Amino acid sequence: MSEFLIIGGGVIGLLVARELAAAGAKVTVVEQGGCCQESSWAGGGIVSPLYPWRYSPAVTALASQAQLAYPRLAAQLLDETGIDPELERTGLLMLDAKDEDEALQWAVTNGKALHPVDPAFIYEREAGLAQGFLKGLWMPDIANIRNPRLGQALQSSLQRNPLVHICEQTRVLSLHTGTGFGHGARSVSHVEVLCEGVVERLAAEHVIITAGAWTGGLLEALDVILPVVPVKGQMLLFRPPQRLINTMVLTDGRYLIPRRDNNLLMGSTLEHTAFDKSTTEEALRSLRRSAEALLPALAECRVERQWAGLRPGAPDGVPFIGRVPGFENVYVNAGQYRNGLVLAPASAQLLVDIVLGRRPSVDPKPYDPVSRNVMVRDSPRG
Ligand SMILES: Cc1cc2nc3c(=O)[nH]c(=O)nc-3n(C[C@H](O)[C@H](O)[C@H](O)COP(=O)(O)OP(=O)(O)OC[C@H]3O[C@@H](n4cnc5c(N)ncnc54)[C@H](O)[C@@H]3O)c2cc1C
Repeated sequence: MSEFLIIGGGVIGLLVARELAAAGAKVTVVEQGGCCQESSWAGGGIVSPLYPWRYSPAVTALASQAQLAYPRLAAQLLDETGIDPELERTGLLMLDAKDEDEALQWAVTNGKALHPVDPAFIYEREAGLAQGFLKGLWMPDIANIRNPRLGQALQSSLQRNPLVHICEQTRVLSLHTGTGFGHGARSVSHVEVLCEGVVERLAAEHVIITAGAWTGGLLEALDVILPVVPVKGQMLLFRPPQRLINTMVLTDGRYLIPRRDNNLLMGSTLEHTAFDKSTTEEALRSLRRSAEALLPALAECRVERQWAGLRPGAPDGVPFIGRVPGFENVYVNAGQYRNGLVLAPASAQLLVDIVLGRRPSVDPKPYDPVSRNVMVRDSPRG
């Protein structure tokens, strides 16, 4: 029996596993497909919320902590595995944001580098941008990380750790409860998994659900109603023959992300289509239009790839991190929505602090499912 059973091997689950193993705990990660192949693969990897001042202080607190943690994490992963997650501090240029005063106030309050810039700055920095942008906001410290490589590096590092066992292609079918020790709280005694057509039983002292957009469904089987829903995002990849831009550029909610090898990502759509992950012609046309409107040279480039992922959407983008109400040994870390890559290291650390009874470095209350009145149905199933 493992001390900790983590359900879901996305970036959140793998970082929780890394943090627990660093504290000496024995961990099993159960992933229905391959690790970091869902939202954690599909994302753009901007290490900041878009228009960060529009989010609540709870999101800013985790993002700020994670932004400080990423350079060390990326260097450690490269050192441990030889896989470079390519953390690139390109800066983020936001064009024509309408709420400049709020942005500047937020930057002062939170000690962030954020500067209003004029057309001279914009076109000196990125000469290839379409003409006509009259002002912008510049955040020089913002980086992006090549998230598919981050996922590979995390997995590779965990596979070298004797305290961690990763079971891929293993789907959790059901969670089974027993009676807990006090206050009427129940506990999960074991889970049933499907692996290579065979149903098996896995027991654990503690269960941690990090199943991204699927978290609500898993918890519903325990009669817990967690408002985390899938929100589809589609992206495009361009592979221009030379470097077209050096900074990340954002306008009207759409962004271009340059990678180290000159690849450019264009994101993204926001669609409420349940668990449908298909790509559409309409999104292709719309994203392509946005890309060319920002960077006209892209009209000469073909789209190399289009994909979609399911973000774990929670109200106001504030993740649920903490113990699941009504259960003494079940925890959740999900709902990072559009910001799961930036929030991941701090979210993982917060959950592990809670689980191990360490003093958390951010106030846990805004993320706590119990404080947020996550509902538990009256009629528990066995
Ligand atoms: C188009 C797009 C662009 C994005 N851009 C950014 C960005 O620039 N910056 C940023 O910070 N964030 C971005 N995001 C958001 C970010 O990708 C997500 O918030 C983050 O990856 C969520 O991580 P996760 O580990 O919770 O979920 P996931 O990566 O989805 O992982 C959950 C895992 O749980 C597994 N699972 C589910 N059910 C079960 C089960 N029953 N048994 C076993 N395993 C199960 C799934 O297979 C999956 O691998 C973007 C997302 C999308 C889609």
